[in-house]
Amino acid sequence: MAFENFDNDLISGIKSRKNFSFSAFTTYGCGGYADRAFFPQTEAEACALYSHILKSGKKFCILGCGSDVLAQDGYYDGYVICTCGMNRISFPQCTELNPSNESANVSDQNVFLSSKESEGSISDGKIISKNSCAKKTRGNDTDNYRASELNKTDLNKSDCVILEVGGGVRVSDLLNLCKKIGLGGLEFLAGIPASFGGLVYMNGGADGKSISENVLSVRIFDGEIKTLTREECNFTYKHSTMRDIKCLILSVKLIVRRENPLNVAQNIKNRLKERGALPSGRSCGCVFENYCGVSAGKIIESADLKGARIGGAVVSEKHANFIINRGTSSADVYALIRYVKEQVYKKFGITLKEEVCYIGEFE
Ligand SMILES: Cc1cc2nc3c(=O)[nH]c(=O)nc-3n(C[C@H](O)[C@H](O)[C@H](O)COP(=O)(O)OP(=O)(O)OC[C@H]3O[C@@H](n4cnc5c(N)ncnc54)[C@H](O)[C@@H]3O)c2cc1C
Repeated sequence: MAFENFDNDLISGIKSRKNFSFSAFTTYGCGGYADRAFFPQTEAEACALYSHILKSGKKFCILGCGSDVLAQDGYYDGYVICTCGMNRISFPQCTELNPSNESANVSDQNVFLSSKESEGSISDGKIISKNSCAKKTRGNDTDNYRASELNKTDLNKSDCVILEVGGGVRVSDLLNLCKKIGLGGLEFLAGIPASFGGLVYMNGGADGKSISENVLSVRIFDGEIKTLTREECNFTYKHSTMRDIKCLILSVKLIVRRENPLNVAQNIKNRLKERGALPSGRSCGCVFENYCGVSAGKIIESADLKGARIGGAVVSEKHANFIINRGTSSADVYALIRYVKEQVYKKFGITLKEEVCYIGEFE
């Protein structure tokens, strides 16, 4: 295997796992295995790894939380890059976070954000560096925010906080932090089982909002490190530039606002409650993209496909755009996706487009 021969110290030091099972790393809980998966922990490791894989010419895939992928059964003849170790959160430019609020000091998580220590970076819930930061350090990014009108709320400069979030940071982890230190604007993401790399790649969102509204820039590696502005990301429904070019999303700069932690906690709670109505079981969330603004779920339901089943795969009775995996076979899930597409086309002449991303070969 090409990797065994790499003499680069950085590469050989990257955490990896042999006989990597997709079923254990995807929310569908099915799929076969790959010889080797790598878990870079730093940007340097991620870039070195990506470069080497590109040079090796070997097939590869990138996995965030695995919540929007269907991996083939059997042997996947490629490498897997798992981003979960790229989980650093930092505050490149920020204002004082809740200077008068005790809850800004989150000592149980070893996160200390006070008026003196409001810039730092966090990995695995621990602060790993901190520099001086005061109101005067607000800079261009905040100005960019104002210029690009990232969202419609009437934020003024002193409300804004910019976070730099590693591609592997989980939505739930960042929201826990937001809840503790009082950062608002991302609560609409509550309940999405995603990493920020995956979320930005898919331009995911909920409740009528998408992550693009909070993105200032995205740092990628495609052989070299590049920073794409929000405009260069060309975000549209379920789409971003990053889907068109082959690249690894290293980190994302997000704009959030200072908010009372209790409000943040309540907003998150409300969202989670609303999402309680979604089907449970192993799935990738919505399988298909909406069609010209019409809910794909409604279209599938109108085609009378709720409850349709192939092997262990079932179209949810609760939400027709969810295919639940009750078995172990990706082939069943794929066959049902094909069946739903065919039936919808037959009945309405509509070709639904998959939101779910495929890993490997499917018939
Ligand atoms: C129960 C459930 C509910 C869901 N609800 C929602 C919802 O409300 N809204 C919504 O938008 N989505 C929802 N989803 C779908 C899914 O969570 C999102 O699409 C999410 O953005 C995928 O993120 P991920 O980290 O899991 O990506 P993965 O599934 O791991 O990957 C998805 C794609 O992104 C690519 N990718 C991932 N990370 C990177 C990276 N760092 N660099 C380059 N490419 C990368 C992968 O290669 C793959 O092509 C739901 C899924 C489930 C299971």
